[in-house]
Amino acid sequence: AIPLVVSISTSISANNGLLIRNRTQFEKARNISMVVFDKTGTLTEGKFGVTGINTEDDYDEKELIRLAAAVEKESEHPIATGIVEKAKSMDLDIPDVSEFNSFKGKGIEGMADGKNIKVVSPGYLREHDIDFQKETKEEATTTVYVLIDDKLAGAISLADKIRPQSYEAIKALHKMGIKCHMLTGDNNETAKKVSEELGLDGFEAEVLPDKKQTKVKELQEKGELVAMTGDGVNDAPALAQADIGIAIGSGTDVAAETADVILVDSNPQDVVTLIRFGKATYRKMV
Ligand code: ADP
Ligand code: MG
Repeated sequence: AIPLVVSISTSISANNGLLIRNRTQFEKARNISMVVFDKTGTLTEGKFGVTGINTEDDYDEKELIRLAAAVEKESEHPIATGIVEKAKSMDLDIPDVSEFNSFKGKGIEGMADGKNIKVVSPGYLREHDIDFQKETKEEATTTVYVLIDDKLAGAISLADKIRPQSYEAIKALHKMGIKCHMLTGDNNETAKKVSEELGLDGFEAEVLPDKKQTKVKELQEKGELVAMTGDGVNDAPALAQADIGIAIGSGTDVAAETADVILVDSNPQDVVTLIRFGKATYRKMV
């Protein structure tokens, strides 16, 4: 049986941007010691715009975007949306793709115009000992690399924005004595920039999808009571692992279905609301 005060509170919470799916887990909200955030789409808006194109050996920029967009059309990643929109804005004729395949947390590939096209992360290049000639490596931007028949053709840089509400959310959590940590599949430089900008207590970059869960578990083993907040398919196992899994409303269905709480307005500040609300609800019960 659900105590009356809890059931009333849960229905009220829907008006505060919170959808509580699992009341048992919600009960832990009042004791959370650390909030772990995903970066892309959670602390940031998850809307990427192309900010730079660098080609190798003067490979044609339009051709690079056209082929990259062909494979990205098959992907749901925010990076993919950014690249496809760029191709459309350049009025490029995006070819069809076959044999689409994704490398979890590292990129995608497919056949277009009879060539194998890969769009991959800096980590993928390092693993395959592929060297990039131009100066895009050290920048704090999200950069993906385009390989055509496994030969590097160029790099595409993209920028995302920190959600304005993320600043206030971190500040308020710190005031409550709660640590804020970030896990991201993105590169170290971009992660560091976001972490410094928001004043996070720690972060880990280039975390592969199946490793986010392991990281949450490690933090729990160190004694933290963890609320994990994420939006992506790659966040789902970590949301399940956390003491409270919180999904961003605008995120993927997989994340929402796994989460204990959904932030209906996709506002990271509602994590603070959730914890305050948990404290208030169970104070009334005793
Ligand atoms: P997160 O959501 O934490 O930023 P992901 O695990 O989704 O991370 O992605 C990690 C990295 O994998 C991206 O920063 C990018 O380099 C690469 N990647 C993932 N999906 C794609 C895609 N569709 N196209 C190109 N690169 C991708
Ligand atoms: Mg994400």
